[in-house]
Amino acid sequence: MINSLRGMNDMFYPDSALYEQFISVATKVASRYGYRFLQTPTLEQTSLFKRSVGESSDIVNKEMYQFTDKGSNDVCLRPEGTAGVVRAFIQHKLDRAGGVHRYFYHGSMFRYERPQKGRLREFHQFGIESFGIESAYEDATTILMLCDIFNELAIEYTLSINSIADENCMPAYKKMLIEFLELQNDKICEDCCKRKKLNPIRVLDCKNSNCQLIYKDAPKLLDHLCDSCNNEFEQLKSILDDNSIEYKIDTHLVRGLDYYNRTAFEFISGDIGAQNAIAGGGRYDKLCEHLGGRATPAVGAAIGLERVLELIKLGLEPTQSYYFGAMDSESIPMLIRAARIKRAVAPCNIEYRPRSLKAHLKNADKANASYCVIIGEDERKDAKLWIKNLQDNTQNRVDIDKF
Ligand SMILES: [Zn+2]
Ligand SMILES: [Zn+2]
Repeated sequence: MINSLRGMNDMFYPDSALYEQFISVATKVASRYGYRFLQTPTLEQTSLFKRSVGESSDIVNKEMYQFTDKGSNDVCLRPEGTAGVVRAFIQHKLDRAGGVHRYFYHGSMFRYERPQKGRLREFHQFGIESFGIESAYEDATTILMLCDIFNELAIEYTLSINSIADENCMPAYKKMLIEFLELQNDKICEDCCKRKKLNPIRVLDCKNSNCQLIYKDAPKLLDHLCDSCNNEFEQLKSILDDNSIEYKIDTHLVRGLDYYNRTAFEFISGDIGAQNAIAGGGRYDKLCEHLGGRATPAVGAAIGLERVLELIKLGLEPTQSYYFGAMDSESIPMLIRAARIKRAVAPCNIEYRPRSLKAHLKNADKANASYCVIIGEDERKDAKLWIKNLQDNTQNRVDIDKF
């Protein structure tokens, strides 16, 4: 027997139906906000992710599905969606076209991690990226759009926001943070010691509870923003207030790479246990330039579908379904014709093996059908169908033409 790879799952009904439902709602909402669908390749050059996700990150260091293809190219299955979208944006010279460009995407992402609940090696994301607007208004609108998607699916969340500064005010803050960390050298965890050298801001979202206790006294980014970053953050908060969106400010919410700046946000579910972000995003005004394009302000977000699907409370809409059975083999062609008429409006199951009425009714019940439609010799001769409503147990015979 050949099994699927570890951390790579088959998605059967009803999960697959919830997946479709999520994509359909998210697509509808994104379209209303001016986003268009963009499909980019699953496989890209490894250098794209090394440059965009960053060589200091765990994703690039430990978790990439990286290999050399038959043409000796160093390639990698995408570990996230933004890099490919920015690459496409630059490659097609949209950075030179000016104006506003908004894209949404969805599909498989790959990370070689230890599989656990809600975390797979092949997982799925729905993401959005908006290019061309340098304003907290667009950041706020991105958040409002995610709220609309979650609200429509009755998914409960809490929202955390932060500002992670910009190239004006970040260097001074970084210096201050390093000075603070130097004094804590023997108390912080091993990972944080590494981060201190490579990417000091990243210590702030360390998962180690002892580190978190220490960082309670660390200098706070929000206290050291320049006027312009501060104004943008105030603007973001006032738009969220205007729209009655509740949020909390999390000064330890960071992204840690130089091209991420200002607005950062995270949607968290209270339902799945600790460390349960269901969506995250923020502004990345320097990434386009960093990947060789023209400087273009941008903001984006991604929703993790595996985690979100567990939270869809609405369930699936109940559908009226039909079971079709024949009492003799001569009736089967007529049965297929009758089912085809009904398939224009409802799901239909046909049993091709002739059975007794009693056996068919039992089958229909087992299949959870709403109606059982039977054709026997009498029905065939009269061009009629015998129908039993399995919800109220009424039955009647109707002309196939009036079905
Ligand atoms: Zn730590
Ligand atoms: Zn600033």
